[in-house]
Amino acid sequence: MKILKFGGTSVKDAQRIRHMVDILIRRKEESKDEFHIVCSAMKGITDGLIELAMIAESGDTSYKERIDGIWTRQEEAVAELFAPEGLDDRAADRLGNQVLNGLASLVNELREITHGIFLVRECSPRSLDLVMSFGERMNNYLIAQYMLSLGLPSLFIDARKVVRTNASHGRAEVDFAITNSLVREFFSDSVSPGTIGVVTGFIASTERGITTTLGRNGSDYTASILGAALGARDIEIWTDVDGVLEADPRVVEGAKVIADLSIDEAMEMSYFGAEVLHPSTMLPAVETNIPIWIKNTMNPQVRGTRISRQKSTSRHAAVTGIASIPRVAMVNIIGGGMLGSKGLAGKIFSTLGKCDANIIMISQASSEHSICVVIRQEEADLAQRVLRTELDHELRVKQVQDIEVTPDLEVVSIIGGGMRGTPGVSGKLFYSLGNQGINVIAIAQGSSEMNISLVIHSRDHAKALQAIHQGFFGQEGDE
Ligand code: ADP
Ligand code: ASP
Ligand code: MG
Repeated sequence: MKILKFGGTSVKDAQRIRHMVDILIRRKEESKDEFHIVCSAMKGITDGLIELAMIAESGDTSYKERIDGIWTRQEEAVAELFAPEGLDDRAADRLGNQVLNGLASLVNELREITHGIFLVRECSPRSLDLVMSFGERMNNYLIAQYMLSLGLPSLFIDARKVVRTNASHGRAEVDFAITNSLVREFFSDSVSPGTIGVVTGFIASTERGITTTLGRNGSDYTASILGAALGARDIEIWTDVDGVLEADPRVVEGAKVIADLSIDEAMEMSYFGAEVLHPSTMLPAVETNIPIWIKNTMNPQVRGTRISRQKSTSRHAAVTGIASIPRVAMVNIIGGGMLGSKGLAGKIFSTLGKCDANIIMISQASSEHSICVVIRQEEADLAQRVLRTELDHELRVKQVQDIEVTPDLEVVSIIGGGMRGTPGVSGKLFYSLGNQGINVIAIAQGSSEMNISLVIHSRDHAKALQAIHQGFFGQEGDE
């Protein structure tokens, strides 16, 4: 059994949904292997839903037009998908109307919820999760109905029934013990052999049935959660690129597909910004040893990338890939009085934890004169304010001189299992950047020696990625 996940671009409209279902039909003809699918919302819908909620919260009535826009996309898709050749007009109409009714009741529910947000002028993270859930719910319902209309035995499955999380809205944590048993029970009781489960990615629920989400790009994670629970042979993530590439293809033109990637490297690449995969996708697969494939819906014959316990294949001996996290800020805690002071680092990190700031990178000069912590830009103001309050005593006795925030930065990382014990990698990295006049603001290397991360100014984004790629994978960089 396999799990196939299709991302937003692969199911963004009727034409792409048709194409995706063609892949499934071919798969069924070629192999007896059973499979279930997990689909995202249509590309742009989740962003649209977030904007919609923000508009309603601000008291602007134009949220209504946004909902109309979402409804129009559903109507267009239904009109195209349910007017199939070979069906007489009346039958097609009947089917189309039935599906439209199903979608209309979802959109009406969305209207009511958004109206509630508009009335109270407040959209809590919990309400936002509920609003975002409609993207996956509408699309998977539509896809399952379309597959049924073609005679493919399919069942729409709302993942909220089977994926159980805590209540950390926006990026909830999965309770694997409960989820695994719910998934197994549901599939054995309610999905008959040969039926294709069409499962909503991204969404889940708490013990009390409150809707949660797994973080942006979370449908990848849903696929591996299901795959691990059901003991799938493979998990396939179908997207719009030929696999995991050496660097973001939108920035680095010559980036090539990495044929095999180790689990550790895939985790580092996605954590450090390669959005082709949700960073948690690898977690369930590590334990169960299920390979994850990244494949291109628009180019299905290409092999793609395999992520497994095996070592990676890289064109460069030490470095496998380059990734970057945009829109970060550096919080710099400066002070000569920090020298040898015990417990200050602990206080800084626990304070950042209290204000929910996610620490991306830490760097401390060996002189112990300053500690700098890189966090998301939107978290920086709050972090600075709370740090000032919590370190009030240290500031007054001049143990800490100042807490500065530098915005508009980016973390760039090179990743590769082969870096361990290979000399000269940092030399090449800094030479590549220096050669292009790019200033490096801070540096960190994980003790795993699988990653070197550095902070640069956002304006150097493209230039830095291109220079590093050229340095390691360009002609002179090839080894
Ligand atoms: P989906 O909608 O299928 O989930 P995403 O947009 O989330 O797709 O992820 C695929 C995109 O990730 C690609 O189109 C590409 O622009 C971007 N990307 C960034 N870094 C990489 C990388 N190293 N390899 C492949 N794609 C990458
Ligand atoms: N629809 C969600 C998002 O846009 C989840 C996903 O696409 O994986 O983030
Ligand atoms: Mg994605």
